[in-house]
Amino acid sequence: MHKNSIIEIDHKAHKNNIAFLKKLFGKKIILSSVVKGNAYGHGLKEFVIMAFENAITHFFVFDVEEAKIIFEALGNKVTIVIMGFVADDDLAWAITNKIEFFVFERYRLVKATKIAKQLNQKGIIHIEIETGMNRTGFKINEIPKIAQYLIKERQNLHFKGLCTHYAGAESIANYLRIKNQITAFKKAELLFDTFNLKPDIRHSACSAAAIMFPETRMDLVRIGILQYGLWPSTEVLVSYLNTKKKKIDPLQRVITWKSEVMSIQKVKSGEFIGYGTSFMAKNNMKIATIPLGYSHGYSRSLSNHGRVLINGQRCVVVGTVNMNMITVDVSEIDLVKKGDEVVLIGNQNDLSISVASFSDFSNQLNYELLTRISKTIPRKIK
Ligand SMILES: *Cc1c(COP(=O)(O)O)cnc(C)c1O
Repeated sequence: MHKNSIIEIDHKAHKNNIAFLKKLFGKKIILSSVVKGNAYGHGLKEFVIMAFENAITHFFVFDVEEAKIIFEALGNKVTIVIMGFVADDDLAWAITNKIEFFVFERYRLVKATKIAKQLNQKGIIHIEIETGMNRTGFKINEIPKIAQYLIKERQNLHFKGLCTHYAGAESIANYLRIKNQITAFKKAELLFDTFNLKPDIRHSACSAAAIMFPETRMDLVRIGILQYGLWPSTEVLVSYLNTKKKKIDPLQRVITWKSEVMSIQKVKSGEFIGYGTSFMAKNNMKIATIPLGYSHGYSRSLSNHGRVLINGQRCVVVGTVNMNMITVDVSEIDLVKKGDEVVLIGNQNDLSISVASFSDFSNQLNYELLTRISKTIPRKIK
């Protein structure tokens, strides 16, 4: 097991975020937890176990591999929905274990029906509608045919959900496009209605849509980034705070990423540090090496930019981020020694390195930064 660094996930912070979201959305709306991308880097298995303890019983994943990890951890105590890829030969596993899945093309509709028939068990499906993102989903004009098919195959398919996904609800610049998508989805719903077909639930909102466009909440919200204590964008945070008297971020970051000082070196003024010549010491310096680099998800674009916390002080990454190591300037820290805690994301004494500051430096989105954190790093619930 990798010992170079550790990810801690904060049970209390997650509980706080869930309480906030439940209050915001109300009791009638199902709060589902989106855990694709290794639970946004938090560690899928550890995260869903914690989420279940915090009363989350509904999860969305991208593929079968992720669904299997949750199913092994929590079994039939929770609902699992696959939004993306299911290989043909995994459909039987999904249907047998009542794992729900999106259907966004005729091919999968027919395949799922066939396998459900063989297994003599209904496939539980969510029909995804293409409303303007132009990625996946049935077009509005395909709906009559799909509706007739669903009626014909009632014995084999359970029409559990009707859904869509918005193309960038986190940015006000996309306002019109999202509004049009909302209208298109309504139309789809009405079309199914004319065939007397009603899904059990309708869902469309991700974090940003759920905050910015309350009408998208419907019966269930698919919440990723917010439950991890982060905002989809600053615009979303600002529009939320504008509706409140107290301008305080109600969310708490769930993730902490820590490592330790591996060794310390003195460097003379005029010497270069690390590969090449990207950093020259202007004074005599003291450098600490930390045993993690871009292979663990610490982006190379943090070279000469990244910040870490050591002994309660902020230290700058000097030189390029290597595959397995970074070097940081500890010249100003008298007592620094091998084995001292290094915080890459999180708090130390009064200081904090947020995911946002981290990703601003490296021009990555919150989402990308988190999901790039290597799976080999152990995750621990705190
Ligand atoms: C990732 C994803 C979500 C969750 O998005 P957040 O912005 O993290 O809340 C919801 N729906 C779909 C289809 C997704 O792919």
